[in-house]
Amino acid sequence: MTLSELIKLDFQNCSCGRVHKSCLDDVIIKRNAIACLPEVLCKYNAKKVFIISDKNTYKAAGEQVCKYLAESKTDFTSYVIPSHAPKPDENSVGSVIMHYDTSCDVIVAVGSGVINDLGKILACVADKPYMIVATAPSVDGYASSTSSMDRDGLKISLNSKCPNVIIGDLDILKNAPLKMLKAGLGDMLSKYTAICEWRIGNTVTGEYYCEYVASLVRYAANECIKNAKGLLSRDEAAVKAVFEGLVISGLAMNFAGISRPASGVEHYFSHLWDMRSLEFNAPSELHGLQCASGFLSATRVYEKLKHLTPNQSKALAYTASFNVEKWNSALRDNWGRGADTMISVGEKELRYNLDAHKKRLDSILTCWDSIITVINEELLPLEEAEALFKELDMPDCASELCRDREFLKLVFKATKDIRSKYILSTLLWDLGELDNESLLSSL
Ligand SMILES: [Zn+2]
Ligand SMILES: [Zn+2]
Repeated sequence: MTLSELIKLDFQNCSCGRVHKSCLDDVIIKRNAIACLPEVLCKYNAKKVFIISDKNTYKAAGEQVCKYLAESKTDFTSYVIPSHAPKPDENSVGSVIMHYDTSCDVIVAVGSGVINDLGKILACVADKPYMIVATAPSVDGYASSTSSMDRDGLKISLNSKCPNVIIGDLDILKNAPLKMLKAGLGDMLSKYTAICEWRIGNTVTGEYYCEYVASLVRYAANECIKNAKGLLSRDEAAVKAVFEGLVISGLAMNFAGISRPASGVEHYFSHLWDMRSLEFNAPSELHGLQCASGFLSATRVYEKLKHLTPNQSKALAYTASFNVEKWNSALRDNWGRGADTMISVGEKELRYNLDAHKKRLDSILTCWDSIITVINEELLPLEEAEALFKELDMPDCASELCRDREFLKLVFKATKDIRSKYILSTLLWDLGELDNESLLSSL
């Protein structure tokens, strides 16, 4: 099934009980796909188009978009954000809205992560059809209906609008900076841990899981790995696999109605680094590279976890003596304002409730063999993952971010406090193994 067929599928009878419906009208991924834009706009009866880009993405594709529209005599207003890398914050949203030409009836954004997030917000506020011309296969937010934003200094996922059409022009995508191509691959590597943890969560807590959605993501991630080496030479098949994979990941989240199919513990490493960067100006990296680093760390811990024998009395003693107050103050010291949200969400969800823990522990002890089977089935073998990182010169542990090994352990422990999602660090807390040095030293 092609991606275009997949999005037109209205999957009413999935065995998971949910209706899987795509929010996209179309995805066009091919060489010179940008030339299709005037024809696509015609389908939406566009009289005048509002184009958003930044200084970099205007050069990469915005100029060509304007040229094709001018040639097809489609009226447009182009706003180039006067920055090479706009931030996903109030200023950028304000700037885009204040320059919006209200006589336009379709919005086209030209860019990747931030520009797409801004375009989705503008299209949502203006209530107009929205298209994204992608300039880099670097993030999996293309097909989602939320925007990843910094609001009041905090990282949030803001409800916005899913694009009507995604245009992935391979001639443009393959010329994206190599670092962004690697970041896209990194975001796709996340899917191995994400699906593994979705299944573990389903096993331990009985949460919703859909094998059909998981299989889509699994397939997309495997295609990326098969072609990965080609990224270094900007091989078209490799770039296409990553871009398609990122779009499929977004679709999968749409289908499931949750972010489970695309993000797990590795994304929380990334969130925690981003939050430190926002609060304290600490170093950060591209989202996909941070996720890649979190993925490799998690894969190493999972590898060791496979050889562990759960110990009920150790687990019960650990959680009974766990000092929530002390832990919360460590969160506040290291994540500032961001910690308040983590703590209040945790309190609301009774994250450290001992009765709930006991119930989960019983389930873990009963299902331990199944959990190990899931890890074996879903994760990339560690040797394969490490070889891939070496071959592609991916930042093993996003270099600067992981230099302080003790702090890296703290980041890992804090991943369980970001949301209620059941992930590796939650499992280790439940097992009473979250301070186990032999596990942590492999991070
Ligand atoms: Zn399903
Ligand atoms: Zn991601």
